[in-house]
Amino acid sequence: MIDDVTTLAFDVLVIGSGPAGQKAAIQARKAGRKVAVVEQEKGVGGMCVQRGTIPSKTLRETALSLARLRRGAELLDFKLRPDMEVSSLMTRLDQVVKANVAYLGRQLERNGIHRLYGRGRFVNADTVEILSVDGSRSRVTAQTIMIATGSRPRTPAEIPVDHENVLDSDSILSMLYLPQSLTVLGGGVIACEYASIFAHLGVRVTMIDRTPRPLAFMDADLVGKFVQAFEHNGGRYLGGQTIGSVEWDGISQVITRLGNGETVSSDKMLVALGRVAAVDGLDLAAAGLAATQRGLLAVDEHCRTVVPHIYAIGDVIGPPSLAATAMEQGRRAARHALGLGPGLPSEMIPIGIYTIPEMASVGLSADEAEKRTPGTIIGQARFDEVARGQISGIQDGLLKLVCDPSGKKLLGVHIVGEGATELIHVGQMAMLGREGGADVDLFVENTFNFPTLAEAYRVAALDVWERRGG
Ligand SMILES: Cc1cc2nc3c(=O)[nH]c(=O)nc-3n(C[C@H](O)[C@H](O)[C@H](O)COP(=O)(O)OP(=O)(O)OC[C@H]3O[C@@H](n4cnc5c(N)ncnc54)[C@H](O)[C@@H]3O)c2cc1C
Repeated sequence: MIDDVTTLAFDVLVIGSGPAGQKAAIQARKAGRKVAVVEQEKGVGGMCVQRGTIPSKTLRETALSLARLRRGAELLDFKLRPDMEVSSLMTRLDQVVKANVAYLGRQLERNGIHRLYGRGRFVNADTVEILSVDGSRSRVTAQTIMIATGSRPRTPAEIPVDHENVLDSDSILSMLYLPQSLTVLGGGVIACEYASIFAHLGVRVTMIDRTPRPLAFMDADLVGKFVQAFEHNGGRYLGGQTIGSVEWDGISQVITRLGNGETVSSDKMLVALGRVAAVDGLDLAAAGLAATQRGLLAVDEHCRTVVPHIYAIGDVIGPPSLAATAMEQGRRAARHALGLGPGLPSEMIPIGIYTIPEMASVGLSADEAEKRTPGTIIGQARFDEVARGQISGIQDGLLKLVCDPSGKKLLGVHIVGEGATELIHVGQMAMLGREGGADVDLFVENTFNFPTLAEAYRVAALDVWERRGG
């Protein structure tokens, strides 16, 4: 850590040490540049490590273990204690977070990246002032500046988030006790992940959104399977709804009045209505920048803002708002800023959603493929068709291969079911191996371990084979 940075100048300054900032800094450093990362939190790693991905996935792991336990003892009437503390459902969280923060810190150190501790704000387009916790100020100039400050939950003014009864995705896991019932506002990734995790923990969950089905950007068959599993677990999805009002009754319930007159009561509420860029306090105007109407930073395909040497990467530029995408944006932006080649085409970046069951996709959707070349062929395999799915009792898995009209070239893969976020990489690697998509026959002509879920690739490829006429 450097105490006095007043006189320091860097080639690249990264504001924020989440997945986007980390990768941008490492890429720039590997290209031999003098790099600094400024972070306002004590530990590095960003929202991803501290409050988002890792904590939510730790709770998810508990929910899955409990579900396995229930399945393994079907005759046991197994219920969690009514006063179950949320923190005790995440026993390993502290360890996991500490290990991650330490590892990421060492990674920065090993790469010779300067770490600056404090809150950054623009003085002008080339200079960032850093306000340290002890109140001291210092200034840093850089030829390239990367804004990687992440996002915070979006809360409409009429929804009274008090972080006690009505919570957002930053505060939901600070809830003391597991509620009996939970209303989730929203139908995006965070809403669906938490809704399905809490439903698995035995909480009565009602998810409310204005869209008829959640996760509108994902394959409809995958989402259909997810909603089916969620409702099978006692969850309720109320789609096509508007919110009239939300209020805490002052005793025990959050009351939600819907536009159609229906009322939903629950112990707690999670508001997951999207996220806005965390740019408050950055003094964007001083650098010649402004947030869009949606509260995000606008960039071109290289993540460059309207000020050519200032880039914005990760959640700060909006969807898909995933850690893996943030990392890739960081890497690419740094490569562009330093005049290096661009790397992989962006449609090969996979999407992984840790709902229960998981969902994942890579490449083109059926609709996108159809628009490019009408006559798309889709091959499918249900997990209960492959031996591993039957052995593991995975009923709700589905793998879809999207192929061009010849039924030869693989354009996209879409999977729902436990293991989907790992399994997707088989498809991704196959597609990366051949320009414009793998030959689907690759999956028929090669040997898979038996019994594995990956065999679903072969079953789906055989389906494509049949559909194209052998
Ligand atoms: C509940 C939840 C679950 C999620 N689950 C997943 C998942 O399973 N998989 C996945 O891929 N993604 C997941 N995400 C999304 C993922 O966490 C984000 O996409 C990712 O963290 C974005 O990375 P980032 O680098 O853009 O920002 P962040 O990780 O938010 O990091 C930004 C950093 O900038 C710092 N900062 C902000 N302003 C300043 C300033 N002025 N000066 C200095 N420092 C500053 C912040 O302190 C923070 O450390 C989840 C998110 C949430 C909320």
